[in-house]
Amino acid sequence: KLENATAKAELGRASWKLFHTMMARFPEKPTEDDSLALKTYIQLFARLYPCGDCARHFQQMLKQYPPQVGSRNSAAGWACFVHNQVNERLKKPIFDCAKIGDFYDCGCGDDDKKKAE
Ligand code: FAD
Repeated sequence: KLENATAKAELGRASWKLFHTMMARFPEKPTEDDSLALKTYIQLFARLYPCGDCARHFQQMLKQYPPQVGSRNSAAGWACFVHNQVNERLKKPIFDCAKIGDFYDCGCGDDDKKKAE
């Protein structure tokens, strides 16, 4: 089957959106279990990502730049960095990671707090 660059790019945008939004919602002070869950998620994401070439590249990158899962800031900063590595390889503009703060909003308001009550 022929490669479909439009579908591949659409999958990439959707995936990055979820990826960065998860980081933005990761606890500022995660438990060990939270951190393990995120690390495992990232490893499985890299392994199961549907575009095989992308997945191979990304898995190589995880070896070089292991996921930072100690806090929200470190996870979001790491994700921004690795996305920029992909941007560089694909000759795309580099994102200013200092601006990652409010960029990814899940739109879910205070649902977590409500659940906790
Ligand atoms: P995208 O890179 O999809 O970014 C979407 C939006 O995210 C941007 O418009 C910008 O607002 C924001 N953004 C950009 N950089 C950052 C950053 N560093 N941090 C936070 N936000 C940012 N495509 C290939 O052709 N070959 C590959 O090998 C390949 N590997 C991939 C590996 C993974 C794990 C993923 C998720 C995608 C991969 N892709 C690959 C897809 C590729 O990265 C793009 O998603 C796709 O080309 C669409 O690009 P885009 O210009 O719309 O912006």
